[in-house]
Amino acid sequence: MKQIAIIGGGISGLSAAFYLEKARASGAELEYTLFESGQRLGGCLSSDRIEGCLVEAGPDSFLTEKPWALSLCKELGIADQLIGSNDSQRKTYIVVHGRLIAMPDGLMFMVPTQLLPTAFSPLFSWSTKLRMAQELLHPPRPMHEDETVAQLVERHFGAEVVDRLADPLLSGVYGGDAGKLSARAVLPRFVEMEEQYGSLSRAMLAAHKKMAAMARTQPSRPLFTSLKDGMQQMVDAIVGRLTPDSIRLRQFVRRIYPEDSGWRVAIEPSEDERYDAVIVATPAHVAGTLLDGVDHGLARNLLDITYSSSVTVTLGYYKQQLEKLPPGFGFLVPRSEGTRMLACTFVHNKFPHRAPDDKGILRCFLGGARDEAVLGLSDEEILQTVERELRDIVKLEVRPIFARVYRWRESMAQYEPGHIARVGQIEKRVAEIPGLALAGNAYHGIGVPDCIRGGMEGANKVLQLTPESQPARR
Ligand SMILES: Cc1cc2nc3c(=O)[nH]c(=O)nc-3n(C[C@H](O)[C@H](O)[C@H](O)COP(=O)(O)OP(=O)(O)OC[C@H]3O[C@@H](n4cnc5c(N)ncnc54)[C@H](O)[C@@H]3O)c2cc1C
Repeated sequence: MKQIAIIGGGISGLSAAFYLEKARASGAELEYTLFESGQRLGGCLSSDRIEGCLVEAGPDSFLTEKPWALSLCKELGIADQLIGSNDSQRKTYIVVHGRLIAMPDGLMFMVPTQLLPTAFSPLFSWSTKLRMAQELLHPPRPMHEDETVAQLVERHFGAEVVDRLADPLLSGVYGGDAGKLSARAVLPRFVEMEEQYGSLSRAMLAAHKKMAAMARTQPSRPLFTSLKDGMQQMVDAIVGRLTPDSIRLRQFVRRIYPEDSGWRVAIEPSEDERYDAVIVATPAHVAGTLLDGVDHGLARNLLDITYSSSVTVTLGYYKQQLEKLPPGFGFLVPRSEGTRMLACTFVHNKFPHRAPDDKGILRCFLGGARDEAVLGLSDEEILQTVERELRDIVKLEVRPIFARVYRWRESMAQYEPGHIARVGQIEKRVAEIPGLALAGNAYHGIGVPDCIRGGMEGANKVLQLTPESQPARR
């Protein structure tokens, strides 16, 4: 019987466990054990109910176009629980000199695809608008060295677009800094478009036309998908499918060592245990430490992937207290505004099933790559900051009926220039080591669907391990 250890009980490790369980139920001769150092499963996925409102501590949804989360929900039998974002109400604001300015229609990520809304938008200065018009003539750029997102966007549209769009959008998705994230890893389509078309606007217009033609033949799908009872519902559904004896909470894995015919896993507070295969589904900075005794170069590469931390603050209000808020999904705050808040989502507008009719929820994001210090503040200090900044930005003078602060230390992998090459080296080395697989948000995408895909691929790799495979060696 093949014995498999999974280290880390976030969505990556849980997905690996689910696909191993599926293979076991279909007759594969295996047993698996999932080690989680914390008291609960789900990692970043965690939902609470407060005053009848659904509060997401971590991710609130996933991108619908990436298929792995949807497929998993279907396999789990919870497809009827999926909900889409209220895209008809999708409007996002950028704070400029303390005022909310709507992102103009036709802006795809940060590239204008409709000239008139951008030309009349107060979001950009006239010199930036001129720059955007000139961008249409940008010549194709052959393959070149990786660069930061800020460098790529500034070359095309100027520094104001980096400040007002690229940076706030990336701090929303990655908790990251456009000046540090790799264009090739984070915006691969932009890099390809530049190579092929030169102008990103022209490339986006061409893509937009194709998408519009497809949309005429296919039913439109929401941009984001979530679950009626929150992202925790996915975690609970997976856990419900696993063999209860296979889950070990409060078990901290310290090291992994190759042993003659497999692996020795050093666990606190238990004795070491032996496994044929190991799936490491922790953040890369943990994976690097665990694997230092297996391959020092591999460990070094893993430790070189940096992480940022973030804080989410959810505030509940009576609906009538929020009457002055504009319609839409929320706002992003450029760094140049000097606030600690990076973004705020109007949760009750973004998704159905989040708040009773008489209540509304605001979710604010702080921290990220440039403000690690916010994690050191007390909940009271964080709440005071958020309430003061909401007063300044959206003139919200009332106290919330509830407030909850969540801290996420070193949870978001930062894909810096060179990331793709580094991950290539990591994967080449891991492919040479039988019975070892990695999964997590450090490799091919930070979002939930990519983590699920990573867990599934990790499970597939160890399922292919045969007794004839060579044992791992230093
Ligand atoms: C605030 C926030 C908002 C986000 N929003 C979105 C969103 O809206 N949509 C989206 O798609 N993605 C979002 N993400 C990203 C996404 O949630 C994460 O990338 C993903 O959940 C990571 O899952 P994981 O299993 O790889 O890692 P984690 O969730 O970090 O899980 C790793 C687990 O390993 C355990 N562990 C660590 N070390 C050890 C050890 N030595 N021994 C045993 N166990 C160990 C940890 O306790 C943890 O439970 C968000 C992330 C955050 C933090």
